[in-house]
Amino acid sequence: MLNQKVTDLLNQQINKEFYSAYLYLDMSNYFQDRGLDGFANWYKIQAQEERDHAMLFYQYMQNNDCKVTLDAIAKPDKVFKVDMDVLQAGLAHEEYVTESIHNIYAAAYEVKDFRTMQFLDWFVKEQGEEETNARDLITKMELFGNDPKSLYMLNQELSTRVYTAPSLVLD
Ligand code: MG
Repeated sequence: MLNQKVTDLLNQQINKEFYSAYLYLDMSNYFQDRGLDGFANWYKIQAQEERDHAMLFYQYMQNNDCKVTLDAIAKPDKVFKVDMDVLQAGLAHEEYVTESIHNIYAAAYEVKDFRTMQFLDWFVKEQGEEETNARDLITKMELFGNDPKSLYMLNQELSTRVYTAPSLVLD
């Protein structure tokens, strides 16, 4: 059995990852309405990845005989006035998730729960990549977002993103 605090935090993370998926779907929806289907594609794939993350936490808990409790997923209530609002919100959200993962890691470290630490290693690395992706997107938008032709090209670029399953697989 895992430590109770670690268990609680893992359980909360399932909800946070599903909320992330919901938030990114909302962002995808924003861009779909704007007619920027490449951006919509990028965020929809982001949502799929978040759903995968939720399932990994869910599976890890079940594999360790931890009882999973599923809570309500909050409504994505961010208001986006301009495109950049979405990108900034994405980065802020990833920074929040990174902090959350690090909190679980710290709790596992405290009780010498090496198994959970090893499980979380993948997520620590993943969060580094998520933040980099969010920052890169902001940089590109700053450079090209104000020119319609360049925005069109950027939209084309983002339309090429394809979903790939996470490299972490739990049986
Ligand atoms: Mg995630």
